[in-house]
Amino acid sequence: MIDLSTKRHSLSHIMAQAVKSLYPDVKIATGPDTEDGFYYDFDFGTTEFSETNLKEVEKKMKQIITQNQDFKKFEVDYSTARKVLSSMNEAFKSELIDRFESGDFKNKEKLSDKISFYFNVSKWKPSEYYEKLSSFLSENNLQKFEELDWDQVKNLKFIDMCTGPHVANTRELDANSFKLVRVAGAYWLGNAENTQLTRIYAFAFNNKEELDAHLHMIEEAKKRDHRIIGAKLKLFTISDLIGPGLPLMQPAGMIVRQEIEKYLWELHQDRGYDRVWTPHLAKETLYETSGHAGHYLEDMFKVFGWTSKETFFLKPMNCPHHMQLFADNQFSYRDMPVRYFEPATVYRDEKSGQLSWLTRVRAITQDDGHLFCRVSQIKDEVKSITDIIKSYYTTLGMTDDYWVSLSVRWDDKSKYLGTEDVWQLAEWALEEASKENNLPYKRVEWEAAFYWPKLDFMFKDAIGREWQLATIQCDFNLPNRFNLSFTNENNEQERPVVIHRAISGSLERGMWVLIEHFAWVFPLWLSPRQVTILPVLPMFDEYAESVLKELRSAWIRASADFSTDWLNKKVRNAEKMHNNYILVIWEQEMQNKTVSVRNYRTKDQSVESLIDFKNRIIEEYKTRAL
Ligand SMILES: [Zn+2]
Ligand SMILES: [Zn+2]
Repeated sequence: MIDLSTKRHSLSHIMAQAVKSLYPDVKIATGPDTEDGFYYDFDFGTTEFSETNLKEVEKKMKQIITQNQDFKKFEVDYSTARKVLSSMNEAFKSELIDRFESGDFKNKEKLSDKISFYFNVSKWKPSEYYEKLSSFLSENNLQKFEELDWDQVKNLKFIDMCTGPHVANTRELDANSFKLVRVAGAYWLGNAENTQLTRIYAFAFNNKEELDAHLHMIEEAKKRDHRIIGAKLKLFTISDLIGPGLPLMQPAGMIVRQEIEKYLWELHQDRGYDRVWTPHLAKETLYETSGHAGHYLEDMFKVFGWTSKETFFLKPMNCPHHMQLFADNQFSYRDMPVRYFEPATVYRDEKSGQLSWLTRVRAITQDDGHLFCRVSQIKDEVKSITDIIKSYYTTLGMTDDYWVSLSVRWDDKSKYLGTEDVWQLAEWALEEASKENNLPYKRVEWEAAFYWPKLDFMFKDAIGREWQLATIQCDFNLPNRFNLSFTNENNEQERPVVIHRAISGSLERGMWVLIEHFAWVFPLWLSPRQVTILPVLPMFDEYAESVLKELRSAWIRASADFSTDWLNKKVRNAEKMHNNYILVIWEQEMQNKTVSVRNYRTKDQSVESLIDFKNRIIEEYKTRAL
């Protein structure tokens, strides 16, 4: 079976071919596959291109697919590649060659001394075309190549410089498996000083059913947009006066946030963690010692004290602070592991254009924790963190089909901080822990020089979207930089390992995901509005008041509507705020000390004694039932 990313990427070439056949003057840039499809960047020059043109491109692509075109690979040296591209007049591709050759990209292409091209041809006849072309190229007979009249070679449809892989023939693609969705501006190589290109985005899957399921998911996602729900249910506020990326929690939002935080702490408390607190400011020397100043400075906020005339930084992460907590102790091997937990707000200077509601913020509250242990303890500690992660996401109903990415260094190991042996040790420890804990993990090569090997947990929400949330990171570097140690059995100083971990990722991101996962109605334990009481007439107000008191005395988040509105309107208002339970009070309820219960989620209705209802709700809350 051909993997989906190969199909998606092949479709991007077909889109480029379609665009070129409709707009011959267009210049092509690059077209990778994405998480849900692919895109390709084009320079349309002065030609207008908008989303209204997507239909014709899509139609052309379907035609191309039905032509059963082959993807044929040719490899040539750099100078041949340049000439091929200049004869095709593709300036962006030519620039890429220069960059490959100068090693500008941290990309594997530069390691190869060959450049590969893919030719799309229909009704492939080796005698006529393939041999002709391959002899031009293999003999480096560029004179002939340049003289080649492309119009004469009718069956040659498209050439693109690419390392592949692609499908062998377009018949391996389903013409109904993709949809062009959107046009956006994108700078060449992501640099705002470069030419602005037109990026065409598409969704693509194995077949029409998968595509339709994705389109349905996108529709569903719109209905549960956290920005809309957040405003309607008054969960949080973005204030122009306070600034972008600095969301404020309204009382209802704070309840959700506190419940998350409380639950997280419960999960840590019985696993040997201690709560700590650290201030939001620190001197630059802290970040010089940690090494963050070198890599991270431009993301940090600088604060000047007018009285002290001293400069501080708002902390961009809690790790260096926690190192100081550890350093102020004389721990022995009997004290290890030492585990700190602190939900703490950190500040990062994201560009204002990128800030949005809870998705991208400048004040990020991490459910942060650091634990200090011996190398021999890493595996057990990773297991304990994994248990916390599994408990948390099981309670939220998100553990179906999750997976874990084990990030390890990619080829060029010289780019990373730390020595080879500690890297190997850290990677080994995380992989062993993944195996022992039966985690569905995949090794993923990545190239972030500053970070250490890590496990990232990918969970799916109610509509199948994947979220990177929890993380466990093994670090041999910070203990070194802060010269941390404890006394071992031989009375020698031994260096601990630090494990960074976050369960919800950040409370902001956690809330964003949960709001959209639960879509309007939180499970009772998270819900800011658990019960509302609706007396039908003022004569039942007194009983309603006693019901309200009774529930509140059990810490149930209850409210009552004592307005003179008709019942229908009271019910509508209660439903608008998505209360989990609506209690209607008539004469009968008052006389029998009962309540008429409507479960907003299941729409079930029942009449229960007040005490039974209260106990049921307490149980539902305590067990954090879904
Ligand atoms: Zn390609
Ligand atoms: Zn950390």
